[in-house]
Amino acid sequence: MAKKGRVFSGARPTGRQHLGNYLGAIQNYVVLQDDFDCVYCIVDVHALTTVETTENLKQNTTEMALDWLAAGIRPEESILFIQSHVPEVMQLHTLLSMVTPLGKLTDLPTFKDMVRQHPDNVNYGLLGYPVLMTADIVLYKTDVVPVGVDQAPHIEFAREVVRSFNFRYNTKVLIEPQAKHTEVLKVLGIDGKEKMSKSLNNHIELAATPQETQQRVMQMVTDPARIKRTDPGNPDICNVYTMHKIFSSPEEIEMVNRDCRTAALGCVDCKKLLAKNLNNHLEPFRSKRAELASKQGYVEEVLDDGAKRASAIAKKTMEEVRQAIQLP
Ligand code: SF4
Repeated sequence: MAKKGRVFSGARPTGRQHLGNYLGAIQNYVVLQDDFDCVYCIVDVHALTTVETTENLKQNTTEMALDWLAAGIRPEESILFIQSHVPEVMQLHTLLSMVTPLGKLTDLPTFKDMVRQHPDNVNYGLLGYPVLMTADIVLYKTDVVPVGVDQAPHIEFAREVVRSFNFRYNTKVLIEPQAKHTEVLKVLGIDGKEKMSKSLNNHIELAATPQETQQRVMQMVTDPARIKRTDPGNPDICNVYTMHKIFSSPEEIEMVNRDCRTAALGCVDCKKLLAKNLNNHLEPFRSKRAELASKQGYVEEVLDDGAKRASAIAKKTMEEVRQAIQLP
């Protein structure tokens, strides 16, 4: 069946993925493959803007790729590769930076946030980040970028850069990407307060063992008003219930919703049920991951092949870009 166009998405190499990554992005990546030619990139160069040490970069990249593959990225159809393996992106970044007003970059709320978060390391890379991101997108002649509502301004920025480039060089070589708004689930961590994140250590890894998963679930913060076992609870404000709504059966969800409110169900049993369902849900992923991990050099082969296919598109785009600029 003819595909609807090309999708591009990238993520920093953060190592083993967690439930928040899965529900917020990976799951959607897998579905998009049915309708689009997908290019999925592990953006290692972007990571350098804030990373303190590169010691684990390689391992984090491999672990992340392994998780994506085990979750259902199909490398025979989609391109999965590492950003720095196609260095044309750095050339395009430089060329696009010539049509990007500095004020636009310094005004971006994301830049201001980054400066707040990394006051001791305000490097040029942080400022130029959206231009490199634009280069990532347009180098592969991307039609569509899946984004959550909060990332939509990034795509608008990329579209403006493309328009400036095409206008400046009187060309149509670069494609203005469209944002495909997806419902990005905001998954809270086991603290029940912050978004699930490795750096906050409030995450549940997809590849954790069933025992580790159960331990993490048992640590989940529940309705704080429920102090004694006999206190009725409010599932609407409890992250355990939110997870039940994703991983449990309709009957179980109804039971938790009902019995929590009358204290017929205690938090320990409620969490045990969630851990069981979560482990059942993750079992196929974990078996697949173990199978792929046992194939010596498999992930590297996939990433090499992805880089070759990405490189073929990139080289063609750069040839057109050079011609449009009339670089000698
Ligand atoms: Fe949350 Fe379940 Fe306890 Fe209710 S019974 S407060 S839903 S953990």
